Amino acid sequence: MDRIYLDYAATTPMDPRVLEAMTPFFIEDFGNPSSTHYFGQKAEAAVDMARLQVAKLLGVQPDEIYFNSGGSEGDNLAIRGAAIARNRQNGSNTILFSPVEHHAISSTAKQLHDEFGYEIVKLRVDNFGQIDLNFLQDSLVKHKVSVVSVVCANNEIGTINPIGEIGKICRQYGVPFHSDTVQACAHLTINAKDENIGMLSASGHKLYGPKGVGVFYKESGLHLSPQMTGGKQENKLRAGTHNVPGIIGFAKALSLAVSEREAENKRLTILRDNIIQFVTQEIPGARLTGHPTDRLPNHASFVFEDLSGNDLVIALDMAGFACSSGSACKVGDPKPSDILLGIGLSPELAKGSLRITLGKYSTEEHIERLLSVLPGIVAKLRK
Ligand SMILES: *Cc1c(COP(=O)(O)O)cnc(C)c1O
Repeated sequence: MDRIYLDYAATTPMDPRVLEAMTPFFIEDFGNPSSTHYFGQKAEAAVDMARLQVAKLLGVQPDEIYFNSGGSEGDNLAIRGAAIARNRQNGSNTILFSPVEHHAISSTAKQLHDEFGYEIVKLRVDNFGQIDLNFLQDSLVKHKVSVVSVVCANNEIGTINPIGEIGKICRQYGVPFHSDTVQACAHLTINAKDENIGMLSASGHKLYGPKGVGVFYKESGLHLSPQMTGGKQENKLRAGTHNVPGIIGFAKALSLAVSEREAENKRLTILRDNIIQFVTQEIPGARLTGHPTDRLPNHASFVFEDLSGNDLVIALDMAGFACSSGSACKVGDPKPSDILLGIGLSPELAKGSLRITLGKYSTEEHIERLLSVLPGIVAKLRK
């Protein structure tokens, strides 16, 4: 069967140009960047180049970039590292985060609450998943806040948050602001300095780079408690031998994404809007989730009345279409998504979710084929 992949928010295939850039660093230039000899120096020079490239693309300094294993690790470091360090610095004990964060943020905050006694306060969002800025400000006044985390663009509903405004408010109160940009940084222009982002997480495999590698940015002067201790790599913030091919791949993937972004976003927005228009107009009981316009150009997400999203994903898979319901981590989990509940959907409706995410290999024909079968599959499952 000819299968069509429509789950780019879960992961992306690697761009062949990324693989090409990485290849020499597996066999020929295999040195450990921490070694003093020729082999080490060669690998270190390549990592330094990648760091410079990534820093430029994110509008920060190279010594503010930390290579790591991906989005989950960055999210963990931002929350746990800041909570522990700032608690020791100034006695602050509250973690503020939005109800539409990835589990790497919310579960880390919950662990700090359950096992170590930190307070957690959830920010308010509207029905689209955008932050209530007044509530943020009030919370910063009311609590001794260690860290604020708000996702730049949500993975389940595609909504983009006003990161610059959130950053500005956090800056006024001197509280470090972390944004998970894993879904966003390929599609949106991010300038961490202009937007007062104190920490940022990104991941290679969400932008046509390799899995298991990511980037964490932390502004200089902000102290975090390291979560991986050992060697002195990454300015002692993240021990462990550098994943040299992965780092090279990340830098290549991000630079390709940025240079091709404008044209690609235009193309994807047209495809996305075709899906949204068709589904909301042609399928009874279907509703868009997330913001109608402030959303990722590749992201269409819905809930369907009287339908199980898991069943829908399985039926679509049998028809040759790879989509998802909520996040990829929830396969087989019958509980409704926290994020969909967080934007005020009933548990019943939240269970009927479908996410269609597009990418660079998505074509008009793929979308036509999906839309030609979707109404029939939905009607059949509802019987
Ligand atoms: C995928 C994802 C993550 C996790 O990134 P990994 O590199 O897979 O650990 C975190 N946040 C968001 C918004 C994501 O979409």
